[in-house]
Amino acid sequence: MSEIENNSLELSDVVRCRFCNKLNKIRTSASRDNVRCGSCRLPLSSDPHKKWSDLDPNSYIHPLDSQALNALKKIPGVESILKKLLEVTHESFSHVMFRANSVRVTKKQYPDLDAKLDVVCATLGIEKPDLYISVSGPQGGLGFNAFTGGVEKPFIVIYSSLLERLDDMEILAVLGHEAGHIHCQHLLYKVAADLLFRLTDVVLRMSPFAAIADLFSLPAKMALLTWSHKAELSCDRAALLVTQNERVVMSALMKLAGGTLSSKLDLDEFVAQAREFDKKFAENYLDKFWATLIAGSMSHPFPVWRVSEILDWSEKEDGYKKIIQKD
Ligand SMILES: [Zn+2]
Ligand SMILES: [Zn+2]
Repeated sequence: MSEIENNSLELSDVVRCRFCNKLNKIRTSASRDNVRCGSCRLPLSSDPHKKWSDLDPNSYIHPLDSQALNALKKIPGVESILKKLLEVTHESFSHVMFRANSVRVTKKQYPDLDAKLDVVCATLGIEKPDLYISVSGPQGGLGFNAFTGGVEKPFIVIYSSLLERLDDMEILAVLGHEAGHIHCQHLLYKVAADLLFRLTDVVLRMSPFAAIADLFSLPAKMALLTWSHKAELSCDRAALLVTQNERVVMSALMKLAGGTLSSKLDLDEFVAQAREFDKKFAENYLDKFWATLIAGSMSHPFPVWRVSEILDWSEKEDGYKKIIQKD
């Protein structure tokens, strides 16, 4: 399949998509700018795209994520409550909910998204999860632009309001971030944290989950929510490993922050804002702030912080560069 249909009277070149590996015929005379793969819709170029079969998540997991997770695991009873949660949910509730309310992405339904998901899974070396597109979130609003659920059988949900705002590379970044939760084995804790966030939802309050959430002690709830924000930083790194372009990850984060006015946003200005951001201060301040957020609605840490973190990691010699340059 080709972005520009092959005309038999014209000479054409065959270009292999660096992301999905499909062959594309493009007219020799056509400009190569903005030509996209007919299968995954990502830009065709001769740059390499690296994929890993055995990438160790510990090579990129953010230290704040692993520290918070260790603190969480030390709280007595947390593991057993989480196991109970897993028993009760038995994965079925969420799967049924999304199968009933959303459109499942397949080779025939949103084929380019299906191809992008294949790219993401091949890059991080994970099994392909189900992907759903949904019009509205459980709570509506912009809080849940995309998320990953399930533990034994993970699935990703992207809300159409987010899809409409992003270009193809930014969608790849969002899928890379979500797949990062699977690759980093965040899911048991993440499902529990998401549950605590969403207990304001009427449907969830009537579900068997509500009783489980009540089993968490206050310190356990605080540790879980604090960790879940920090886990996002690891997944932004996964998004960078998948897109291999930090500007794409940053512009996706900017659009998450700037909402629907994305056409008026300027990435360089936003990057400058992130460079000025005082991370050390934010870390100390937000640790206290997050602790009071249990009843709050913030599911992700501030986008400016996330951009500042991804900038740092992309520039550090022993960060992103070390992984991407390794044979
Ligand atoms: Zn492709
Ligand atoms: Zn996330």
